[in-house]
Parts: sequence; C-alpha cells; structure tokens
Amino acid sequence: MKAIVVGAGVIGMLQARDLAHNGFDVVLYDQGQLGREASWAGGGIISPLYPWRYLAPVTALAKRSQAIYAELIEDLEAESGIDPEISHHGLLVLNVEDQQAALNWAENNASWMETISAEHLYDLEPKLKTGFASSLWMPKVASVRNPRLLRALRTIMNLHAAITVRENQKIAGIDEGRVSLLSGEIDYADLVVVCSGAWTSQLMPQISSEIEPVKGQMLVFDAPVGLVNRVVLSDGR
Ligand SMILES: Cc1cc2nc3c(=O)[nH]c(=O)nc-3n(C[C@H](O)[C@H](O)[C@H](O)COP(=O)(O)OP(=O)(O)OC[C@H]3O[C@@H](n4cnc5c(N)ncnc54)[C@H](O)[C@@H]3O)c2cc1C
Repeated sequence: MKAIVVGAGVIGMLQARDLAHNGFDVVLYDQGQLGREASWAGGGIISPLYPWRYLAPVTALAKRSQAIYAELIEDLEAESGIDPEISHHGLLVLNVEDQQAALNWAENNASWMETISAEHLYDLEPKLKTGFASSLWMPKVASVRNPRLLRALRTIMNLHAAITVRENQKIAGIDEGRVSLLSGEIDYADLVVVCSGAWTSQLMPQISSEIEPVKGQMLVFDAPVGLVNRVVLSDGR
C-alpha cells in the first residue's frame, strides 16, 4: 500500500512515520523544506496556553497527548540520535482577563491546573516582579525544543527506507488518490493525508471556512541562565 502525505510539519512527519511503521510506502511532499514553517517556529509548549477556553473534546485530546508525549520523545531520540530536550517544568499563568472561567475549569481539572499562593509562586520563580498575590499553575505541562524535535523528525524521514522525501514540490490539487503537483506531474496513492497546516484551505477549498491561519510571533532573547525557569504566561505573552 502506498500513502502520500502532503505537508512536512510536525504533523505530517509524525503521520509519515506512523504510516511507515504500519507497512505503508510513504511519499512525503512539502512545498518548501521539511519542518521549516509553524512547527519550527512554535514554542514547544505541550498544552493549549488557555486550556479552559476550549471545548471538552480538545481537553480530552490534549490530556491524551500530554500522557504519551514523553514516551514519543524517547522513541524519536532512539530512532534519530537527536534529543528534543523535553522539560517538565510546568506553566505559570499570572494575569488573565477570564480568571473566573479558568478557576471554574480548574475545579474539574484539578490534576491539570491549580491555584498557588504568592509564596509558592516566588519559590518557583524568584526573579518575578513583586506584587502577585497568587497564580494559576499547571505543574505537569512540559515543553520541547522545537528546532531539535524537527531535526529528529527530519533525520527519521531521511533514514526510513519506506519514506521518500520530496521537498520543494508544491501540491496544487487532490482528487481522492490522485495528487497533482504544481510542476504538472501526477502522483497516485491508496491513501492521501493532508497535513498542510495553515495552507489547508488553499488545497481543500471545500473546508476553507473551517481552517484559517492564526498569527503567532516569537522573540528570542539572550538571558542569564535561571532568569526564568519555566513557561510564564502573563498578559497574553
Ligand atoms: C510563534 C509560534 C509559537 C507557537 N507556539 C506553540 C506552542 O508553544 N505549543 C503548541 O502546541 N503550538 C504552538 N504553535 C502552533 C504550532 O506551531 C502549530 O500548530 C503546529 O506546528 C502545526 O503543525 P503542522 O504540521 O500542522 O503545520 P506546519 O509546521 O506549518 O506544516 C505544514 C507544512 O505543509 C506544507 N505545505 C502547505 N501547503 C502545501 C502544499 N500545497 N504542497 C506541499 N506542501 C505544503 C508547508 O510548507 C509546511 O511545511 C505556535 C505557532 C507559532 C507560529
């Protein structure tokens, strides 16, 4: 059986790996290079930032992902020789406009999020500015180093005999198992999996109203080790 995966972000590469493990010959297409778009830029936090703002199925999916992520990272390191550097340092939420909604959600998800006192907060992050009376705290939230995760996945894609990587090949259209490349070439497969992220509405106009890009920005600072020890979310940043 042959599968085509369109888009080689974290989703497409994990999908390609999974299909190859399940006996498929996989062709993985990307219009650019493997893992250089949103997945590369992402902050690597393994949780929705504001988990209380989502529907119950998203909470269930996120819980499941968090439960299996550490083992996945171990497997990726064993397969690639590259450590994506998962760290389990939790996430602090200091100022949110919908604090009450967050507290209500925390009541039903106590193992995920709790409220901590100022004393506990400053134990965790001694260099925070003074004046916070309490904080929301998600102790189990982990994060990974995305560039390293993507390098591990790229290595696995290139090493796996059942996966053929085709970079700089834009897919222009999909019709069931028939895929047209911008170059005019046609490819066929038993299964086509679309993992084209923010571009998906261009490729599948029939679902264009359901998927739209959301902009995120990342600033990288030089900072002394220990200035901030975990993910700290405050005022939307
Ligand atoms: C600044 C920033 C910070 C973020 N922080 C976090 C975070 O901390 N935690 C978190 O969970 N999420 C975070 N996200 C979101 C997260 O990065 C994305 O949800 C995730 O990477 C999406 O993965 P993906 O594989 O679907 O998309 P992408 O990585 O964008 O991959 C899609 C791929 O499809 C390819 N493609 C598109 N169209 C075609 C086509 N027609 N033909 C061939 N190839 C095509 C693209 O070239 C691209 O490589 C952040 C995002 C940003 C931008």
